Amino acid sequence: MPEHPQPLSGNEMPRFAGPATMMRLPSASTARGLDACFIGVPLDVGTSNRPGARFGPRAIRAESCLLRPYNMATGAAPFEALTVADVGDVAINTYNLAASIGITEAAYDAVLEAGCRALTLGGDHTIALPILRAMRRRHGPVGLVHVDAHADANDDMFGEEIAHGTPFRRAVEEGLLDTARVVQIGLRGTGYSAGDFDWPRAQGFRVVPADACWNRSLSPLMHEVREQMGRGPVYVSFDIDGLDPSVAPGTGTPEFAGLTAAQGFEVIRGCQGLDIVGGDVVEVAPAYDTSGNTALLAANLLYEMLCVLPGPAS
Ligand code: MN
Ligand code: MN
Repeated sequence: MPEHPQPLSGNEMPRFAGPATMMRLPSASTARGLDACFIGVPLDVGTSNRPGARFGPRAIRAESCLLRPYNMATGAAPFEALTVADVGDVAINTYNLAASIGITEAAYDAVLEAGCRALTLGGDHTIALPILRAMRRRHGPVGLVHVDAHADANDDMFGEEIAHGTPFRRAVEEGLLDTARVVQIGLRGTGYSAGDFDWPRAQGFRVVPADACWNRSLSPLMHEVREQMGRGPVYVSFDIDGLDPSVAPGTGTPEFAGLTAAQGFEVIRGCQGLDIVGGDVVEVAPAYDTSGNTALLAANLLYEMLCVLPGPAS
């Protein structure tokens, strides 16, 4: 593999043809030698409502064929600075959620051991738990920039401790997060109880509900978030349902009056300068995405994450 592999150009092979890797990058069997990788976790057996996020990685890769290498807004040229490839999907056991958690942890341990920063194509949000467990082993407790309609901090769902609505409760209990360096952006919708967002606040999280984001730029917020995150390691977990269903309908638990696409970009671009150790875009469920735009937006958000990763020297 060349030191700086480039996405296959739309002028060499039609965009709608050729390999179905993320951004038409080379595929790699391991993360060794890579500064960053795209990796899929096609798990959706942690979902509570509409299933289908198991098809998210494949749909995001398919729609990512439209992406070009240069970020015209920020000037980022990630493929000139970083060695990036698509390392494929984690071979989860779709019949066994508990086993899939262990399989996913092991896969991320291997990626992180290689010194590679992983950008994940989900999959439902359950996958944040095994990823954060691996992150803690490598980096210690991490800060978290979490975009979502939901806090995903329930104590249990249907009596189960591991599900897509519980990963951040487990993460706090297990010491995976630096709780003073956590922000949750876009929370809204109906709750199980009036206090649903109180538990995260009691842990020290900054909670920014969606209605505090309406009709304004999120750049000032992200200035404050950068101060909150400081110089320590930060993980970015982006549930596509943080965005409004008008721009991201292809998801399992949609909530109205969410963030705009531009606000989603502002959040990720606002992470520039942080020590981003990895990130994900989760909960893309292609069956409800008749235009493909939800998956295309997810692909763009993952590209934006790649654009704010620190260089290989850091
Ligand atoms: Mn979520
Ligand atoms: Mn959500």
